[in-house]
Amino acid sequence: MKSSRATAWTELLERSVVTPEQLAQVLPVDRAETEEVSARYPLRINPYYLSLMRYPGDPIWLQVVPDRREIEDTGGMEDPLDEERLSPVPNLVHRYPDRVLFLVSNQCATYCRFCNRKRKIGLGFPVDESTFAQGLRYIAQHPEVRDVLLSGGDPLLLQDSVLDGLLGELRAIPHVQIVRIGTRVPCTLPHRITASLCGVLRKHLPLYISTHFNHPWELTPQAKRACSRLADSGIPLGNHTVLLRGVNDDPKVLGELMRALVTARVKPYYLFHPDLVKGTSHFRPSITKGLYIMERLLRSVPQFCLPDYVVDLPHGGGKVPLLPADLRR
Ligand SMILES: *Cc1c(COP(=O)(O)O)cnc(C)c1O
Repeated sequence: MKSSRATAWTELLERSVVTPEQLAQVLPVDRAETEEVSARYPLRINPYYLSLMRYPGDPIWLQVVPDRREIEDTGGMEDPLDEERLSPVPNLVHRYPDRVLFLVSNQCATYCRFCNRKRKIGLGFPVDESTFAQGLRYIAQHPEVRDVLLSGGDPLLLQDSVLDGLLGELRAIPHVQIVRIGTRVPCTLPHRITASLCGVLRKHLPLYISTHFNHPWELTPQAKRACSRLADSGIPLGNHTVLLRGVNDDPKVLGELMRALVTARVKPYYLFHPDLVKGTSHFRPSITKGLYIMERLLRSVPQFCLPDYVVDLPHGGGKVPLLPADLRR
């Protein structure tokens, strides 16, 4: 793939691989398999993220190329965290009293095969002005909500003007103290972090951004530049990583990733054990493996580089930190 640094992000998105035919033209995949799987769980890989692949089955490939095991998975749940039940209005999850998760976009720059909203991402769940209005009204009417976490889909795929309006309305609610944006764009489409976007974000400080890097190969010069731009705009950056079998379930890989993140001005926040989402069981290592990896990490990288290893319990149980027994502190 040729370098796309100067290309506008919208054009890169439009050039995404979305059909089995397109995928078969650029990667040695089984066309029938891609067809079957993507009919159920949509396919999207933008040219930038595609360019990070080095060989078939590598850690980038595994994250985004459809795999037969997704449709053969008989275990798991569509919505293990019970997000739908915990939504008082569409697209707003109110699980902890003081915090809400507000899904403000149904688009992503690339679809992750392990997505925990696999049940709806790319399948056209509606996000429109009425969703925004209902969510904002709910937040305004609930003074106990002090922390709003924007997610989706990817909130940074909204147009600058839409994001500006939304952040402005949130900021106008007096009891909203913290606004956080969860986004994979610095990793999957760093070109989206434009000077103009940073200008919009800077108007609405304090803002926190949670990025989502899973492998050291994702921290390219472009990705690091995107993180730097955000940090220079006054936005502290955290990262969450999902522990994925074959991708990063290795202490060396994760140690390298955590150090690289800190060097890129991103503080590792959570290492998630994969949720019990239907169609993703081939990604799920054992918790024993996760604890082993944490034990190795605790001994090999500074505490500052360490995320909390958490499992998000089914049925709205919440995030629970896991620590190797002999290292609890
Ligand atoms: C993770 C999560 C939050 C934010 O949790 P923090 O631990 O504060 O980062 C809020 N709401 C829901 C539903 C969540 O899953």
